[in-house]
Amino acid sequence: MNDCIFCKIIKGEIPSTKVYEDNDMVIIKDIAPQAPVHLLLLPKEHFANIVEMTDAQAQTLGRCLKKLSTLVDELGLQGGFRLVSNKGADACQSVEHLHIHVLGGTKLTEKMG
Ligand code: 5GP
Ligand code: ZN
Repeated sequence: MNDCIFCKIIKGEIPSTKVYEDNDMVIIKDIAPQAPVHLLLLPKEHFANIVEMTDAQAQTLGRCLKKLSTLVDELGLQGGFRLVSNKGADACQSVEHLHIHVLGGTKLTEKMG
């Protein structure tokens, strides 16, 4: 995907603060944090959202989430965290490369789910 900003971040063509990387994903700091810890989990393979996701991509995403569960302490999420993935206009998705927001580092006040 030539014009995808998250693909460019994954390839290092746009700078970001990466806090974790492996073959499946990178985890970066969100540029406009909504919580003291606001990370974005980006699968390296480009797909727009979970509706577009193949079975193989779903398996990869499962591995990513399992890995995330082992990074809780080093990411400063010991008190808990919230995962959010926006899909489409009603959810105000602004980047069409699947990403999971990881929010924490404080008591999160607005509970939408
Ligand atoms: P969405 O609205 O699609 O769920 O979330 C997109 C997120 O990407 C937003 O929270 C926004 O702050 C973040 N974002 C957009 N552009 C960049 C960027 O260039 N670098 C980083 N680190 N985050 C970005
Ligand atoms: Zn992409």
